[in-house]
Amino acid sequence: MFIVIIGPPGAGKGTQAKRLTEEMGLIHLSTGDIFRENINNRTELGVKVKKLLDNGILVSDELTIEIVKDRLIDLGFDRGAIFDGFPRNVVQAQALDDFLRDNGAKVSVALSIEVQNEVVIDRLTGRRTDMKTGRIYHVIYDPPPVGVKVEQRADDIRETVEKRLSDYCETTVPIIEYYKQRGILSVIDGNADVDDVTENLVKCLSGEVLL
Ligand code: AMP
Repeated sequence: MFIVIIGPPGAGKGTQAKRLTEEMGLIHLSTGDIFRENINNRTELGVKVKKLLDNGILVSDELTIEIVKDRLIDLGFDRGAIFDGFPRNVVQAQALDDFLRDNGAKVSVALSIEVQNEVVIDRLTGRRTDMKTGRIYHVIYDPPPVGVKVEQRADDIRETVEKRLSDYCETTVPIIEYYKQRGILSVIDGNADVDDVTENLVKCLSGEVLL
């Protein structure tokens, strides 16, 4: 099964996608993670996109779509995947549909996690990552233990978060309508507790709550 998870930055897409991956044996395909891995490994792609990511600017559709296609070809189409951070606009959504169709597959469910802007800003500007393990903390709600070295993602500073949010409204929100028209959209309240959000997502996927 191929699933698209949509939501503003800070909606918890990555966390939830990882949980669903474990629950359902799917592959987690996060374009943001692919770009960050390449930046950390200083690959040619990483060097190309670093400035864009640091400033919360979207990578070109052409490059992003090519990377997703390559990853899907490597993974194969049998296990399915949860797309996180992709598609980011209608052009990418169409390209994904076309590519999956050409390979005998399709997006079965689009899950839209809705979160208020203030909640997103609060979550992201306080987010810190353990440099060793990758575990995520929050300076107020889940502070890192003394001695744990954490860093802030360059794109989590307030100005950049606000820019990412306005880009989300302008370019990504239209894909919610795109999937709604195809009859495969489920909407989930992302302001709730993280475990409740997972539970609701799992319910949606088992067809219990199709909004
Ligand atoms: P994310 O981890 O999903 O918040 O993505 C981090 C950054 O990676 C974004 O701000 C963009 O610079 C880039 N990126 C991730 N996914 C996409 C995409 N589907 N299209 C264009 N740029 C992307």
